[in-house]
Amino acid sequence: PDKESKSQHLYSRALASLPGGNTRTTVFIKPYPIYAARGEGCRVIDVDGNGYIDCINNFTSLIHGHAHPVLVAAATKQLALGSAFGLPTESEIDLAELLVARLPGVEQVRFTNSGTEAVMMALKAARAFTGRPKIAKCEGAYHGSYDYAEVSLDPTPEAWGRNAPVSVAYAKGTPDNVLADVITIPFNDAEAAVSLIREHGAELACVLVDPMPNRAGLAPADKAYLAALRAVTSEVGALLIFDEVITFRLGYRGAQGLWDIDPDLTTLGKIMGGGFPVGAVGGKREFMAVFDPTSGKPALPHGGTFSANPVTMRAGLAAMELLDEAAFVRLDAIGQAVRSGIDEAFRRHGVPGRTVGLGSLLKIHFADRPVRDYRSAYPSEQEAQRAAIFNRGLLNRGVLAAGYGLMALSTPMTDQDIDTIVAAASESLAEVAASA
Ligand code: PMP
Repeated sequence: PDKESKSQHLYSRALASLPGGNTRTTVFIKPYPIYAARGEGCRVIDVDGNGYIDCINNFTSLIHGHAHPVLVAAATKQLALGSAFGLPTESEIDLAELLVARLPGVEQVRFTNSGTEAVMMALKAARAFTGRPKIAKCEGAYHGSYDYAEVSLDPTPEAWGRNAPVSVAYAKGTPDNVLADVITIPFNDAEAAVSLIREHGAELACVLVDPMPNRAGLAPADKAYLAALRAVTSEVGALLIFDEVITFRLGYRGAQGLWDIDPDLTTLGKIMGGGFPVGAVGGKREFMAVFDPTSGKPALPHGGTFSANPVTMRAGLAAMELLDEAAFVRLDAIGQAVRSGIDEAFRRHGVPGRTVGLGSLLKIHFADRPVRDYRSAYPSEQEAQRAAIFNRGLLNRGVLAAGYGLMALSTPMTDQDIDTIVAAASESLAEVAASA
């Protein structure tokens, strides 16, 4: 580490006032994080003046890169009119109408401030509607930090159990009652999931599923798996919730449009806020009625001081309008180019591994086996070491990738940027090969 580094200096200062110098576990890296100074298109410049191609994009939440002029104009226009009111604004109707028009499973929308809150409200809505206590979610899938949603996020092989996934606490202090009320199902194993859902069916409020769960490996769900969840939830009277906080960036109609599956509730966040804090739960009118206050106290009262914040709504609307069908064609093409470029480099350097993902998202696995779910994605010690060398190699070549090997591409990336990313990945794979 460079003694003169401003990032290092900022981190030393942060250590006094923030636990571990940190306010988001996800952005912590050793020996100290790189502090961002500004962003421009697909580039980030750090406080020491180094530039990077940004493939983190604030953990998939930016699809137009940084400081897109149209988004800056939309947000600043609203800022000058006032940033928050104890009154509704037209902006929430505008954004809700766009989401309803695009997402087949969404007839009505409720805005929140984060994806965590969106998932929390969706689970509570399912409980309020069904009067049942339990939820089911996939092993290894991340859905934010609501107690119930984070169960079995990172079970180690010792905790896997012999057969079915088990519900294990992620955070210390998780009450046993929470674990008892969460049924953990395997991802992409329809038979096992259906049998667990049937077993607990009478007590189950909902099944929560991310069609391409990042932390569980970013393998896309089999269509048959999602179709089986759709059928069995209807059979047992539980709601099917798609967590599209990330996957909304896969297509104009989200993952539900791509897979052609109609969920009862959908959670959103990230890209739909245009770079500002956001979340939303949407769904069929029948279920969204739990939020409706017109006949007195709703089944599920929901407020939120900053929910449907007009700056977020205006920036979000501008971001979504820029994201037309042509933008998705381009994002699919650059995603495909990066995935095939890196896969080719794996072969060229004789390193076992592959990319997985769809559209503008990809993840790099150093696994010599198909990656289909949390357990097959789980890295061995050697694979984790290779991933660390690889990520360090990318960083040294000016490419930012998220931990766990995740990359999110953005609309301002040019063909030349794509070549730079693939070249950096290829050189980093050469380093991995040399380390073996
Ligand atoms: N669901 C999914 C699938 C996510 O990836 C995330 C965040 N990475 C969340 C929910 C939580 O969103 P937030 O960080 O906005 O609370």
